[in-house]
This record gives sequence, structure tokens and C-alpha cells, in this order.
Amino acid sequence: PVIAPALRLEGLYAGYGRFDVLHDIALHVERGEAVALLGPNGAGKTTLLRAIMGMVKQRRGVIEVAGTDVSRLPTHRIARGLVGIVPEGRRLFLGQSVEDNLRLGGLHLRHDHARTAQLLRSVFDLFPVVERYRARPATALSGGEQQMVAIGRMMMSDPELMLLDEPSLGLAPLAIQSMADALLALRERGRSILLVEQRVDLALQVCDRIYVLSGGRIVEQGAADDIDGRGRALIDAYLG
Ligand code: ATP
Repeated sequence: PVIAPALRLEGLYAGYGRFDVLHDIALHVERGEAVALLGPNGAGKTTLLRAIMGMVKQRRGVIEVAGTDVSRLPTHRIARGLVGIVPEGRRLFLGQSVEDNLRLGGLHLRHDHARTAQLLRSVFDLFPVVERYRARPATALSGGEQQMVAIGRMMMSDPELMLLDEPSLGLAPLAIQSMADALLALRERGRSILLVEQRVDLALQVCDRIYVLSGGRIVEQGAADDIDGRGRALIDAYLG
């Protein structure tokens, strides 16, 4: 059988009220692929992620996750094992312990103790610092460490597709590199990733392919390896 891609968007129009932010979007993420979505402020990157999560209703087009049409599913169903997200600004429960934050990601699996323990173990294997601080309130952690908790929480939902909205935002250079290493590790584990980024270097380091979104339309796309000096200049021009 043909394996459906982790994500397929076709002819997607979506926005707020009667106003479309996204126009005729075609984009795919194959299984085990890491794909970056680059673009300037206001291009519609967050709106695209919100459309996949069912938080912005699409007016037209296809949204398929691992072969499932999610366009009519409510967000809580999409979040249940289909799509995991690290939202902009992380949105951790800062007063709660690190471990409780992680467990929130796997709520729908809470009756499956073996699977929950296995997922927790895989988060701790990837982020030893998260295991060390598991009993501390999230607020006691640095920004970079909190971002690892947010990635761990996403991993706990065991999703077919992982979405990350500018995970490098506001992090110190060392923490950005740790985050890049974590994304590379997820890719090595065969996870399917759509990464929204403003840092082109990070996107090219971590991802197989990139798309550039500008004014709600895909204006460029290509394999990260094929992007030469001219391609890079073009992307930089789009990002301003
Ligand atoms: P940024 O990097 O600044 O987050 P972005 O590429 O993620 O930019 P979006 O946040 O998706 O862009 O915004 C795209 C457009 O949608 C903008 O013109 C924005 O003003 C508009 N927009 C975003 N959220 C809403 C909303 N809740 N209601 C109406 N319009 C919105």
C-alpha cells in the first residue's frame, strides 16, 4: 500500500471571519521528513499551523494528516495522537511541576500506563535535564529548558505530525543550538516535523526541505541541500 504523507495541504484557503489569510496553499510533509516554513511577520505561518489544528476554519481545500481528513475534526480530536504542537511562547503551566506538564501532553493515553511510561522515558532519554528537574515547577527552569519541556509535552501525545512555532524565539545562542540538536534527534527517530522559523540558518541545518510563505501564499520551495547563495539571498529578501 502507498503510505500517506504525514501532512498534505492542497488548495487551502483559511483565515478569520470572512477574511482569508492563506491563499491556495499546497504543502506536504512526508513520513520522517523535517520541513521548514519560513516567512516574514504576518505572512500567515501561525495561521497555517492553527488551520492544521482545527483552530482556524478553512474555507476551501484539503487538510490530511497521515491519510486522515482532519478538516472537520474538532481540535481535541486532532490533538489526540494526530498532531502535536509546540505553540509560540510555549504555554507551559509554570506553577506545575515539569512532569505534570509532560503528562498533560499524554492525557488521552493516561489509562495506558505502559505507553505513558514508555513515552516519558523517551522524553527523558532525549532531554536528561528534563528528567533531572522533573519534580521542580516549570518556572524554575531557564527558557531553553522550558522549551525542551514543551517539546517533551508534544512528544507525550505520540503524534503522527509535530508542529513547532518558532521554538528558537527569545532563546540564548547556546539554547538555540540545543534546540536544533533536539530537532535533529527527533528527525533521526523518524518523526515528521513542520517547523515555523524566522532563522534561516536553523531551518537549513535541521530540515530536509523549506517553503517560504509571504502574504499568505507559498512563494518559494526547495530542498535544503539545493539552496545555493542565490537561493539564500532570495529567501533573505523575502524575510526582509
Ligand atoms: P508572526 O511571525 O508575526 O507570528 P505569522 O506569519 O505567524 O507572523 P499570522 O500570525 O498567521 O502570521 O498572521 C497572519 C495575518 O493574520 C496577519 O495579518 C494578522 O494580522 C492576521 N491575524 C492573526 N490572528 C488573527 C485573528 N485572531 N483575527 C484576525 N486576524 C488575525
